[in-house]
Amino acid sequence: MSRFAYVNGRYARLSEAYIHIEDRGYQFADGVYEVCIVVDGKLFDFAGHFARYERSLRELRMAQPMGRRALQTVMRELLRRNRLKTALVYIQVTRGVAPRDHAFPVPDTRPALVMTARRFDLHASDAKARKGVRVITHPDIRWGRVDIKTVGLLPNALAKQAAREAGAAEAVLVRDGVVTECSSSNIWIVDGNGVLRTHPRGNQILGGITRETALGCARELQMKIEERAFTIEEARAASEVFITSATSFVMPVVAIDGARIGDGAPGPVAARLREAYKNKASGG
Ligand code: PMP
Repeated sequence: MSRFAYVNGRYARLSEAYIHIEDRGYQFADGVYEVCIVVDGKLFDFAGHFARYERSLRELRMAQPMGRRALQTVMRELLRRNRLKTALVYIQVTRGVAPRDHAFPVPDTRPALVMTARRFDLHASDAKARKGVRVITHPDIRWGRVDIKTVGLLPNALAKQAAREAGAAEAVLVRDGVVTECSSSNIWIVDGNGVLRTHPRGNQILGGITRETALGCARELQMKIEERAFTIEEARAASEVFITSATSFVMPVVAIDGARIGDGAPGPVAARLREAYKNKASGG
């Protein structure tokens, strides 16, 4: 079956879905994106993802191509055309097409909207979570506004590639000895006192929607939480480490740079949070 994408107002076969070579996303990474998961037709955390998408656009002074309801309609139609019920939906908006010039194009330039969907394997994700994943450390060389979800992901791509070459699932980004987040997820530890810690929101991390929902779950479960940065040494000494993202939910980390975390198996806090997250994000 051919896959369909939504490209600037029409549904096109993926093989025939094109963007202009002077699209500013292509030339300047002048665009934002969102990734949402749909499980059995239920959009996980959509309100959060939409709010962040609006914020990213606002921070870059980019026009919204369509409102929330219209966007959801396109998502549903794309899923229908691709015959998907459990899927990963990718949404990208760029500042549009204009003759190459660093400064913004004329104000009536239409933003470009692209959406794709592909199958998401929930069972594979759950199986992975039962085993946990290995991560490596990598320098955080990104710019000063990583809180905006832009398509300028080259440092993230380089970090993820380094992880892949090391046989690891993720790269933990470290700046001046402090852990910020990972190449495409947020990272948490459970310290020696049983306190959950994750880097506070701000310009140095992307405010993960899964992070936010998982924090809500942790509060409901009466877990002790500190939104406070930690060093890579603290992460190595933690009793549990896990990452969060829309596509991995809550994923236990069992080794950093080949050194085991705790006893090298997924821990109880991550397991409880993963279940609570799935329940909450699906509106349960
Ligand atoms: N940090 C980075 C750098 C990311 O790319 C992502 C995933 N988009 C996240 C954190 C997690 O965000 P979310 O939970 O909204 O998927």
